[in-house]
Amino acid sequence: DGRVARIASAIRVIPDFPKPGIMFQDITTLLLDTKAFRDTIDLFVERYKDKDISVVAGIEARGFIFGPPIALAIGAKFVPMRKPNKLPGEVISEEYSLEYGTDTMEMHVGAVQAGERALVIDDLIATGGTLCAAIRLLERVGVHVVECACVIELAELKGRDRLGDKPLFVLVNAA
Ligand code: IMP
Repeated sequence: DGRVARIASAIRVIPDFPKPGIMFQDITTLLLDTKAFRDTIDLFVERYKDKDISVVAGIEARGFIFGPPIALAIGAKFVPMRKPNKLPGEVISEEYSLEYGTDTMEMHVGAVQAGERALVIDDLIATGGTLCAAIRLLERVGVHVVECACVIELAELKGRDRLGDKPLFVLVNAA
């Protein structure tokens, strides 16, 4: 699919951001390429339109960019999975480990119902810890996570293994 090559080349890599030694995959340049941005959404929509998904759960912050256009196109609702103390209503939270320390992800109580079918979306999977936390949060309230989807996978970090048998779909592999 020639679309994937264009998407891959529209992603910019910024060395030493946010700290030395990190090669940051920057999707803001993908958003500037109107064809590549549209193709990104289209590829996800083609995959998920007939999978009976009622919820697209987007992870803060860049899951908020890709999630809503996919949700609208497949007729699903969009649910933001946020950093702590951002959501105003009652929340349920899930703690997860980072390279140093821990972080917390929150979701509004009542945003999803038991038995719903969800797609979890983020821009990138590295160690997989973030996606795992989102899956746990949704499963705790009885939602079935059909699949996780990211624009970019850092395959070397083996985040895919951490997801166990939960399917992961990615467009671009960044070694
Ligand atoms: P993980 O939990 O280790 O898989 O890290 C994934 C999370 O970190 C996602 O929410 C990403 O947005 C963010 N992240 C890690 N590395 C990068 C990067 O190079 N570019 C953009 N986001 C990144």
